Amino acid sequence: MIPREVIRDYFQCDISEYGFQDLHDLVISKKNCVLCGTCMSICPRIGINENQPLLIDYDPECSLCYKYCAKTYFPEKFIEKEIFPKQSTKDPLIGYYQKVMVTKSTNESILNLSQNGGTVTSLLIHALNEGLIDGALLTGKDENWMPKPIIARTSKEIIEATGSIYALASTLLKYEEVINKYKLKRLAFVGMPCQIQAVRKLQFFPPLSDEYGKFTFVIGLYCTSNYTYDSMKDIIENEIGVPINEVKKLDVSHGKFMVYTKEGNIKHIPIKLIKKYNYSSCQYCKDYTAEFSDISIGSIGSQERTWNSVIIRSDVGMNIFKDALKSKKIISSSQIDISQIKNASLSKKLKVVKINEKVISALKLFSIPELEAKAYTTLLSLEKADLSMLSTAMKKEPSEINNAVNILKQRKWISATNGFYKPNNPVKVFKEEIHQLKEKFNSNLKKFKSEVFKELETIYIQNNLKSVKDNEFIDNFF
Ligand code: SF4
Ligand code: SF4
Repeated sequence: MIPREVIRDYFQCDISEYGFQDLHDLVISKKNCVLCGTCMSICPRIGINENQPLLIDYDPECSLCYKYCAKTYFPEKFIEKEIFPKQSTKDPLIGYYQKVMVTKSTNESILNLSQNGGTVTSLLIHALNEGLIDGALLTGKDENWMPKPIIARTSKEIIEATGSIYALASTLLKYEEVINKYKLKRLAFVGMPCQIQAVRKLQFFPPLSDEYGKFTFVIGLYCTSNYTYDSMKDIIENEIGVPINEVKKLDVSHGKFMVYTKEGNIKHIPIKLIKKYNYSSCQYCKDYTAEFSDISIGSIGSQERTWNSVIIRSDVGMNIFKDALKSKKIISSSQIDISQIKNASLSKKLKVVKINEKVISALKLFSIPELEAKAYTTLLSLEKADLSMLSTAMKKEPSEINNAVNILKQRKWISATNGFYKPNNPVKVFKEEIHQLKEKFNSNLKKFKSEVFKELETIYIQNNLKSVKDNEFIDNFF
């Protein structure tokens, strides 16, 4: 049960009068929108146009769209406390977890249809059959691989959503139907790390999920980056040369985008050659393993592609997992290389936006050395980092960085908790710096006026009076 004050704080914080314009200015136009569908689902006044949410009616500025958006303020600490048990391990690269292992389904027909080990499908079907959920919000596709949200209430419908698509999907668009049409009370969700942030807000901050539409089991999929449907289609048809309706399965493996055709051929292209198609918002995303899910599932870390690697995080995830294992719906093994998952996560977290030299040199206005300016701007890109991550991102020795972060901490440009550094909001940082510069300037001016100017003026008058033509000494210079 969430304490009332927490809910009140969340709903009555200083965004209580935000409307769609703010969502547009801070999320959509800043290339932060991940097309999760939440805003369009919870507000009938929001539609979609050219892959962007769009206001289609009068906006009462109730702030719901802004608060539940996948990309706006996420009460991380609170949600961590709600989901993860005290005995969990917290890892800076993969988040909270209880166990990491490899698994696969024991059902041959699920395995034949699945991306890797069929664990997602088997866990969902098990949870449904055991009455632990009464439906699942999933992403399926049409015959042209166009993603479509699915509300699955039977095993058959769950199986229809098997397999990865590699295109952004507005899965949460159907959330309104879950509540109003199907009136589901215990809902599972499978999706990308970014979508899960919206799901957790809907789960923990009523009234939206007060009675119906309560998320009770959340599976997150590992995600490096993603494409819009049009970009994915371009990659498949124009870069790889396979008509989209001939595709049987898609996969990203060993740095390649792979297409398995219905005729039995496998074609591929190196991921680095199709970087230009990456969706803009994904370049700022730091979550590889869906750190706020109950269970995260992917393939990296498992020795064979026919198994899944699985990170079990919450008690909900652990209980369903153990139950499925006991019922022999899945099998598991501890043959996992966790360092592969951590490396993939690290490379996603270390994506740094290049700050140009003009900005760095402008920061010298605040008498900050170049290394400190670079450490601060790097932290702005990393969101948070420990010393070793920062030193890898900046290609500098940890000892050099250590000094820089200590200075930044003293000047309140960054904050530190549990060995992690976070940048403070530049608006606050530079307001304070400008305030201090002004104070310093005013006090120097005062000193100059009382101690220096008078003396210089006197010397000038004493020695140069005959060349003074006008009444400049009568004017008050200051
Ligand atoms: S709620 Fe989802 S679709 Fe709407 S603006 Fe936010 S990220 Fe985009
Ligand atoms: S990279 Fe991040 S923002 Fe992009 S789809 Fe994956 S989880 Fe979402």
